[in-house]
Amino acid sequence: MRIHHLNCGCMCPIGGALFDGRSSGPTACLVCHCLLIETDDGLVLVDTGFGVDDVRRPDRLSGLFRTMNNIKLDRRYTALGEVERLGFSAADVRHIVLTHLDFDHAGGLSDFPHARVHVMADELQSAEHAQGFVGKRRYRPDQWASTTEWRTYRADGETWMGFPAVRDLQGLPADILFIPLAGHTAGHAGVAVRTDGRWLLHAGDAYFFHGEVHGSERTCPPGMRAYQDMMNVDKDARLANQVRLRALANDPSAEVTVFCSHDAGELHILGGQPAEESVLARH
Ligand SMILES: [Zn+2]
Repeated sequence: MRIHHLNCGCMCPIGGALFDGRSSGPTACLVCHCLLIETDDGLVLVDTGFGVDDVRRPDRLSGLFRTMNNIKLDRRYTALGEVERLGFSAADVRHIVLTHLDFDHAGGLSDFPHARVHVMADELQSAEHAQGFVGKRRYRPDQWASTTEWRTYRADGETWMGFPAVRDLQGLPADILFIPLAGHTAGHAGVAVRTDGRWLLHAGDAYFFHGEVHGSERTCPPGMRAYQDMMNVDKDARLANQVRLRALANDPSAEVTVFCSHDAGELHILGGQPAEESVLARH
């Protein structure tokens, strides 16, 4: 399977290094790191970032998050824009596997209405019955109104690298698994993909800053720590997941590359595309 690393969204919150730990100016640089997998049965997207309809109608997103995250909506940085850049069309995308249904992960669903969408059952339930101030703003039902082919899963106790795992996603190769990582949302999950004898683990929003999982000591800038606290539904579970992810990422014998959705440096390293520069060029 050939894997492409995509940037399907740019967010530049005021606060700079307080959020991303690296920017020298007043704004930070966050990406929406998605995967496009070429399989024998068509293309598989892992997460969709923002969608073309978010670019056309920014009010599909909540004003709170548009402002707080300083979202830079641009068709080039959507899943469809990235799929087309690689020479494919929307119809080539047969499956979408979602870490969760937050506004910055589910926006592209409406660009691929014929794709089969795989998500944890608890996540779809939470999104469709959103509660509370944050819940009603993070989940935007318009983003998935055109999705008809849902496939939902419950954690079934099988394990992968010591993590509970959901295998045999319907219609997908056995090399693509869900790794439930609840905490950020109720049905949040990572997605593991095996390629060339090594695993990639897309950890979604289980962490936001590379230093939370990689390196000798856990670090996270204060702005990013506060944002995660605001967004998580179960902080203890989120932090416990980070401990497990950290052990996995720092075990060379596991041969797993762990990355998250929004760290621009990780995308830059893994993607081989100038994600960071393209975001910064906008300023
Ligand atoms: Zn996110």
